[in-house]
Amino acid sequence: MLHEFSYLAPRERKDLLQLLKKHSGQARLLAGGTDLLCDIRLGTDKPAYLIDVKHIPEMQGITWSERDGLAIGATVTCIEIMRHPVIAKKFPLLAHAAGHIGSAQLRNRATIGGNLCTASPCADLGCSSLALGARVELASVRGTRVIPMKEFFTGVKATQLKDDEVVQRVLYPAEAAGAAWGMEKLKRIKGHDLAVVSVAIARTATWLRVGIGSCAPTPVVTADLPPQATAAAVVAAAFKVVNPIDDVRASRDFRLFMVEEFIRKLLPALA
Ligand SMILES: Cc1cc2nc3c(=O)[nH]c(=O)nc-3n(C[C@H](O)[C@H](O)[C@H](O)COP(=O)(O)OP(=O)(O)OC[C@H]3O[C@@H](n4cnc5c(N)ncnc54)[C@H](O)[C@@H]3O)c2cc1C
Repeated sequence: MLHEFSYLAPRERKDLLQLLKKHSGQARLLAGGTDLLCDIRLGTDKPAYLIDVKHIPEMQGITWSERDGLAIGATVTCIEIMRHPVIAKKFPLLAHAAGHIGSAQLRNRATIGGNLCTASPCADLGCSSLALGARVELASVRGTRVIPMKEFFTGVKATQLKDDEVVQRVLYPAEAAGAAWGMEKLKRIKGHDLAVVSVAIARTATWLRVGIGSCAPTPVVTADLPPQATAAAVVAAAFKVVNPIDDVRASRDFRLFMVEEFIRKLLPALA
């Protein structure tokens, strides 16, 4: 049985931000609900207010310009990312990552904002976006700020978001458009499952980066490497940023082994 809560569905950004300020600490933002509603059903989260963010125009849609790059509204779903022609052409790594989240039903609901704000170490849009150098746009009644995604995640299910802040958009630099890419996600089963280890690589003419999931308290990314870096150098850079644990799904040693395996497999075959 669900606890009682008030459901609020503002239509304008200013109303959303005011509500968030007013109910700070007592409210949760509701996007697709694929993470939040699980916690509410389990009784591990009992917010007094659910504030639906799906009707806010500034948090919707996908835009692209050569000058400003790609901007994805926080309420854009995985299926919208998979099907967007500009993303398919210029940021295929993102389309691939979105297409490997959960099942078709889930991808119809799950949003990029929810995936990042849950801040699970395995977030598929986390490690792929980190490889592409994404930034996160946060809004509150105090104003808007933009931070690099690698600073957004601060721990397991923890982010820089303040109680009165919302993720408004996720931003990708124009210089990452057309990056060669590859992604591997190890799961326990062939069907839909969370990653035991995931590795996403992006490479342009000036840099190469590896985003890694399920191998540290947050999704992590290597430092920028030269595009022609050897596999050994890329593995060494990856090992500097991961710190996997032993858990029921895999041991630390196996996760380290798979990070290296995936890098060596992906590097010569980047699309
Ligand atoms: C069966 C199943 C399979 C799954 N498989 C995968 C998988 O393969 N890969 C993967 O990465 N994830 C997976 N997930 C996790 C989940 O579906 C994703 O994290 C999803 O993207 C969450 O998005 P949502 O819109 O449903 O978020 P919600 O559940 O609505 O919200 C999640 C959290 O983020 C907060 N939030 C949402 N939007 C914002 C915003 N704009 N600003 C600030 N805070 C916000 C909410 O308050 C809440 O705390 C799976 C989940 C299930 C149930």
